[in-house]
Amino acid sequence: MDDNVVSSAVITIPPDVLKRIKENSPAILVAQPEDPETRPVVPENAMSVTPPSSFIPYKTKYLYVKPIKGLHQAKFSAASKTQSFKVLSDTIGSLIEGVPVEELTIPDFNWLLYYLRQTNYVKRKFQHLAYCQDDKHLTDVIENRKDKSTLENLVILEASTLEETPFDDRRLAEFLETEEGASLAQAVSLGHPRIKDVIALQDTEQSTDPEQAELFDWLSNRAMLLDGGSIADRMKIVEDMIPAHIEALEKYMMIVMEYGTKELVTTKCKECGSEIVSKVTISAETFL
Ligand SMILES: [Zn+2]
Repeated sequence: MDDNVVSSAVITIPPDVLKRIKENSPAILVAQPEDPETRPVVPENAMSVTPPSSFIPYKTKYLYVKPIKGLHQAKFSAASKTQSFKVLSDTIGSLIEGVPVEELTIPDFNWLLYYLRQTNYVKRKFQHLAYCQDDKHLTDVIENRKDKSTLENLVILEASTLEETPFDDRRLAEFLETEEGASLAQAVSLGHPRIKDVIALQDTEQSTDPEQAELFDWLSNRAMLLDGGSIADRMKIVEDMIPAHIEALEKYMMIVMEYGTKELVTTKCKECGSEIVSKVTISAETFL
């Protein structure tokens, strides 16, 4: 074997080390044990729900959702006007009991937004821009026969299809058993991207320099996948990671981010008539 291989982190992990890694990563490999505290009585009018993560990332194994009242609606409106994620997450936090809102994973939080929207805001309509992907239409735009704006199709979301994917902890366990997964887990402490990081990132003073802002986004998106310490500490860890580990981290990202609810929208292009299927993922902005 070439000596250079070591620098690209393609290291064969001895079975005993692999076993140790697995034992030392219970937070991500196996479900978190439940806190010894007694499960509380269901709050009045609240619904007991199971998020797509099936509580695997949490110590608390219950989640109750209370009905939205006028005060919550006022807060949602304030969150929208001030573009404050903190106000949104605090409001969501006041509507749930069980897993604290800041501990929720990003996919579970987004799922919760859908859940609240479906159970409370049924009459509210959402707009979505779907872009035509038809080859001929795209060629016409590229060759200036048609305007770029003809590709845009405004869809009012009414009876859309909700696609829910549960968190696949078996796929994660399999990934961590591969050489690259095991090497990554040995190098850094892996975690779930959580709402507390989104809040911390919104509080961080962002650079107005586009290059700095891009750098910040790249590092913070990856730092959210690590566990322990502040987001700033974890960004420093990412700065020092070797390319092979970054690549493995991106594969890990696909597993811990690709679950939850996605909205599938099918529409016909108003210009060329071809079918457009696009995915809408709810965000704080589209919920409000
Ligand atoms: Zn078209």
